[in-house]
Amino acid sequence: MMDEPTFLVDRMLGPLTRYLRFLGYDSESAALLPEGDPGEDNRLLKKAEAEGRLLLTRDRDLASRAGEQGIYIADIDLLDQIRLLHEKRLISLDVRLIRCSVCNTLLREAAAGEIEGASYAPNPPNGFTFLWCPACCRLYWNGSHAENIIRRIRALDQRGRAP
Ligand SMILES: [Zn+2]
Repeated sequence: MMDEPTFLVDRMLGPLTRYLRFLGYDSESAALLPEGDPGEDNRLLKKAEAEGRLLLTRDRDLASRAGEQGIYIADIDLLDQIRLLHEKRLISLDVRLIRCSVCNTLLREAAAGEIEGASYAPNPPNGFTFLWCPACCRLYWNGSHAENIIRRIRALDQRGRAP
């Protein structure tokens, strides 16, 4: 893979946005824009171009207006969507826990107080690596959630596409 791609994802593809972030990819969501703006398509096209992001969309028209930067996502199933991007050699299927899946911010190592202050942290914390989103104050760790995602994503390699 050459330069790592960055993405702008339309609001129909929220789960895909979160999974791309789990895979470590810089993925902004159109859901950040004000809702109901009739000029949203134009804003997305401008933003994708200005920031060099690939525009992932379920809107075939919008994808074609974005030219080479547009990728039309026809599949409804999340794993098929990821598979498509993998087949296009845009992403690799290695989970990198480096980015907040909620807000796209890069994670940093968590401080002891941040781990202790999170009621949802595994207890005891031994054997986990903890990371922190400084933007939305969320704790992440290499626990069962991430491993479950790794399993689902690796299973893509063995799975045939639904007819
Ligand atoms: Zn965050």
